Amino acid sequence: MELNERAEIDTSQVNDVGRGGGSGGGIGFPIPGGGGRGGIIGIVVAVLVALLGGGFGLNAMTNGDDTGQAGGTDLKEVCATSNPQHLEDPRCRNALYVNSIQGYWQKTYPELGKGKYEPTVTNFFQAAVNTGCGQADSGVGPFYCPADRKVYIDLSFYDELASRFGAKGEFAQPYVLAHEYGHHIQNLLGTNAKAGQGDQSGPRSASVRLELQADCYAGAWARHATESKDKTGQQPLFTSITEADISEAVNTAEAIGDDSIQERSGGRVNPDQFTHGTSEQRKRWFTQGYDRGDPKTCDTFATDQL
Ligand SMILES: [Zn+2]
Repeated sequence: MELNERAEIDTSQVNDVGRGGGSGGGIGFPIPGGGGRGGIIGIVVAVLVALLGGGFGLNAMTNGDDTGQAGGTDLKEVCATSNPQHLEDPRCRNALYVNSIQGYWQKTYPELGKGKYEPTVTNFFQAAVNTGCGQADSGVGPFYCPADRKVYIDLSFYDELASRFGAKGEFAQPYVLAHEYGHHIQNLLGTNAKAGQGDQSGPRSASVRLELQADCYAGAWARHATESKDKTGQQPLFTSITEADISEAVNTAEAIGDDSIQERSGGRVNPDQFTHGTSEQRKRWFTQGYDRGDPKTCDTFATDQL
């Protein structure tokens, strides 16, 4: 994967909220078990939280370094092409991924017959954040909050992905973001509202279907990622994406299947607790999205062959 250093990154699509940032400041309860806001929180945890699911390493990431700034940074200057080092900053790289993913949906969403795509921001936070779905800490992993329609990620999650799950390739990062934007698409389409009434765990649950669909949407984006242009419309965002990159995304999808996570945490594989799908399924649905390059082929609700 190569990023185009001449591409102008649209930093208005991301927000660096820093440590404990968000609407009210302070670090409180993580979303799961936060209590008191069961309705929304329940939906988030059961249906939409994270790539990994609520049960994973709840506080695993909150004891990292303490050097982050409290108030966040305006990324406009940091990520400008006039800064020769801008692509070395993970926030700028991730902003570029977000630009590419949203550029893809801007073009493709109308084909799904539900009007125009509504862009949304990704909030980079550290340790903990206040969201429209309650307070969350990094341990829940990246997530999409349907109530405020935003994506949240602590970028140190990628280190966790590499060290604990062996998903080391850089292309794991845009895959993660594209998966979360997949949940935004589901929110816009109303898929998640419908699925919210279904089973929240189990091998054929609504939750698993939503997650596999988000993986498939991520694959569809990956197929078209090199076509996406920067905000001037002149420069491609990616100069190249190779088969090796795609394998990295597939490996990541595989590493975070429910069965693999259950095994890794020392437990028995218990399909009744599946929320995201098995390694084999996640890999297969991402690949299906990539091979077909069309989100209309991602209907995980209409098939018996999950
Ligand atoms: Zn998800």
